[in-house]
Amino acid sequence: MSAANPIETRDSTPLGTQQWLPFTPNREFLADPKLFASASRQHYYDASGRAILDGSSGLFTTPAGHGRQEIAQAVYDQLLKMDFCAGFTRAHAGSFALAERLAGLLPEPLNHVFFASSGSDAVDTAMKISIAYHRARREPSRTMFVSRERAYHGSNLSGTALSGMVNNRRAFGNPVSGVVHMRHTWLPEQRMQPGQPTVGAELADDLLRLIQLHGAENIAACVVEPVAGSTGTLVPPVGYLDRLRELCTTHGILLVFDEVICGFGRTGESFAAQSFGVTPDIITMAKAITNGAIPMSAVAVSDEIYRTVIDSAVDDGIEFFHGYTWSGHPVACAAALATQDIYANERLFERGRALSPYFLNQLHTLADLPAVFDIRGYGMIAGIEIHPDGKPGQRGHRLQKHLFEQGLHLKATGDTAILAPPLIFEREDVDRMIGLLRDALAALD
Ligand code: PMP
Repeated sequence: MSAANPIETRDSTPLGTQQWLPFTPNREFLADPKLFASASRQHYYDASGRAILDGSSGLFTTPAGHGRQEIAQAVYDQLLKMDFCAGFTRAHAGSFALAERLAGLLPEPLNHVFFASSGSDAVDTAMKISIAYHRARREPSRTMFVSRERAYHGSNLSGTALSGMVNNRRAFGNPVSGVVHMRHTWLPEQRMQPGQPTVGAELADDLLRLIQLHGAENIAACVVEPVAGSTGTLVPPVGYLDRLRELCTTHGILLVFDEVICGFGRTGESFAAQSFGVTPDIITMAKAITNGAIPMSAVAVSDEIYRTVIDSAVDDGIEFFHGYTWSGHPVACAAALATQDIYANERLFERGRALSPYFLNQLHTLADLPAVFDIRGYGMIAGIEIHPDGKPGQRGHRLQKHLFEQGLHLKATGDTAILAPPLIFEREDVDRMIGLLRDALAALD
C-alpha cells in the first residue's frame, strides 16, 4: 500500500493521490482540485459554501435537481426492505413495476426492458441483443455495426469501438472489429442557425454506401445518438433520422437510438424518438432514469425483437446469455420509480419543453462575441463552440475552469461548452447562466 500523500486543497481538504480519476488530467487536477462538497436543487456547493450553478444537470443526470427527498426516502426504505435481490432466475416485483412504467413512456412497439447499471453496459447489451435477434432469425452473418463519427457510446470496449471521438476511438477502438462509421451530421452551412438544421439529411445516405460496401446481410444494427451529446451537441438535420429509419427497415438492419443523454425529457418528450417522430427498434437509456441518484441503465426493445429472441430455442432454456449482477437492482428500481413519480407529478418534461425557446434564444444572444464559433441546441441541450486557440480543446478547458471559479458548472468537450440545465430551472437561472457565460467568453479575448 502506498503512503498517503496528502496535498492541501484550497478548502484545506487533504487529498491523497491514490485515486485515479476518469477522463481527467490527473496531475493537473491534483495541482488545483475542483471539489464539490454538496448539492441541492440547481446548485452544487464547495466546502466553503460557495454556490455553483449546475448548468449540466450533473452530467446530464439530474433533471429534477439535486437532493430530492422523495428519492432519498425510497432508497432508504428499499435498503431496509431488501437491499439486494439475487438475480438470474430470481427477481423482485419492483423491477417489473419499473419496466411497466418505462414501457408507458416509450414509443410503441418498444414494450420490453432489460436492466443494466451504466450507459456503457446498456450499449453493450443493445449490441448483444442485436446479434441475438439476427441469430434467432437465422441470419448469423449480421454481426457488424454502423455508427457515426463524433459519436459517444460509452467506455466499454464495444462502446469505444462504436464511438467516433478521436481520442478514445484511436487509442482503444480497434480491439473490437466490425464497426464502421458514417460521417457526423454537422455541416458548415448549419453554423449559428437556430433550431433543427435544415441542411444535411442526405448524410444519412452514408448508411447506404456502407451497406453497398459491406453487404446488408453482414450488418446487425445502426447505432446513433438522436442528438449527439458528449461531442458538443450535434442536432440531427430535418429528415435525417427518418432516412436512417427507412434504410434500416429496407435492409433488415436494426436501428438503435442511444438515448443515454436524450432520454427523460432532455429534448422535450420522454425520449428523443418521440421529439423527432422516428421510432427505432432499440433505445438505450441511463443517467436521468434515477435522476442520477443510483447507477442504473436500461435497454428497451420492440415486441418483435423480444418475441423473436425469447422464442429462440436454446438447450438449457435461457434465450439470451447476458446479464449483470446489478441488473434490476432493487434499490436502483426504487430510486427510478420515485424519480419517474417526480417527473410525472411536476410535469418536468413539459416544463423543459416550455423553457426551451427562452433558453435557446438567450444562448443566441452570445452569438456576436468574438470567441464564439457556433451555437447549437435543441430542447434543453445546447453547445457553444468557441474558436480554438493553440492546441484544440485547450481554450475549452480554460473556459470550463474559469466558469467553475465564477460559479457555473458546465461540461466542456474539446472547444465546446455543453449546456444541459436541470428541467427545474427558472428563467432567472437561465439568465444567470447566460450572464456568467457572457463574462467568461468575453474574458477569453
Ligand atoms: N451513451 C451515451 C450517448 C452517453 O452520452 C454516455 C455517457 N455520457 C454513455 C453511453 C455511457 O454512459 P456511462 O458513462 O453511464 O457508462
